[in-house]
Amino acid sequence: MRTFNFSAGPAMLPESVMREAQQALLNWNQTQMSVMEVSHRSAEFMALAAQMEADLRSIMAIPNNYKVLFIHGGASLQFSAIPLNLTAPGETVDYLNTGVWSAKAIKEASRYAKVHVVAGEGENPTQVPPIEQWQFSADAKYIHVCANETITGLELQEAHLEAVFAQGKPVIADMSSNILSRPLDVSRYAMIYAGAQKNIGPAGLAIVIVRDDLLNQARSDCPTLLKWSTYANNESMFNTPNTWAWYLSGLVFAWIKANGGVEAIAQINQRKAQKLYDFIDASGFYRNRIHPAERSWMNVTFELPNAEQNSVFLNAAKQAGLLSLKGHKAFGGMRASLYNAMPEAGVDALIGFMQDFARAHA
Ligand SMILES: *Cc1c(COP(=O)(O)O)cnc(C)c1O
Repeated sequence: MRTFNFSAGPAMLPESVMREAQQALLNWNQTQMSVMEVSHRSAEFMALAAQMEADLRSIMAIPNNYKVLFIHGGASLQFSAIPLNLTAPGETVDYLNTGVWSAKAIKEASRYAKVHVVAGEGENPTQVPPIEQWQFSADAKYIHVCANETITGLELQEAHLEAVFAQGKPVIADMSSNILSRPLDVSRYAMIYAGAQKNIGPAGLAIVIVRDDLLNQARSDCPTLLKWSTYANNESMFNTPNTWAWYLSGLVFAWIKANGGVEAIAQINQRKAQKLYDFIDASGFYRNRIHPAERSWMNVTFELPNAEQNSVFLNAAKQAGLLSLKGHKAFGGMRASLYNAMPEAGVDALIGFMQDFARAHA
């Protein structure tokens, strides 16, 4: 039976990518070795790295004055890297707080800089604080936002981003769970970062896209491996990279390209999310708590009429081949993550299952 994995991350990868990796596992690219066993300085691997970067640049239309860095440590290490690269001790930085991931970035930045929270409080808000309530500081070195709060499924909308850009400050965005889900104008951001394990590839790798004028402002005591310039000056190979994660991420970028690029995938993503939200809203059984205008395309959370039904639901879903639907413990309920690799057929199967379950348990 074909299963569908709705995990929030690490998350499912395209089946064709997995098959290609499987087929090449023992003999990659006629090297008679696995890609995990070849030198990262070999001509073959250098070619892989160049192709991976070129493909990402093409699918995201990344301007030439931006560097693309591949950094270990996931998105969370960038929580520290950002203030260390962009501020001197005691300088002010602005953070919008829309949920757990924003709060984690704030906590880490607070060790190094004076963090001013633009708006937002509490663990898991179900809406973005209204723009009228936002208060920016005059002297912030940058403004940080989390573009998509993965735990609740709360996504910043155009109007939110415009209000941030209007400040004329460098804007930094954590796009771990919505990078490559829809087209985006990179040139409006100073720096974009994302852990790979949601919409790209294996965990442990972060994609960092940074405007090149921001590369040389790191504090003198910033660790070498946290300095963006270290990666920029060494093709992200100052030390040994996670070659396996690079390889799989490269296959995913090529897969996106072959599937019509981010524009084509965005249409599918919108359709997948819309039909699931429409079904939930019309069901009279399930409930989504997020402000309807701010619901994420990538992470769809929902609740059953009572929490005692959760384990019955999860067990039955698993029997039906629908995996990893349990919500984050901090928010409860269920969560269906619909990243790029989730086929529309997976969403249709989920809706069919939810329909049957509601009928049987209403
Ligand atoms: C998953 C996630 C992170 C953390 O990523 P790691 O690679 O585990 O550090 C940060 N921000 C957001 C929005 C996420 O979804």
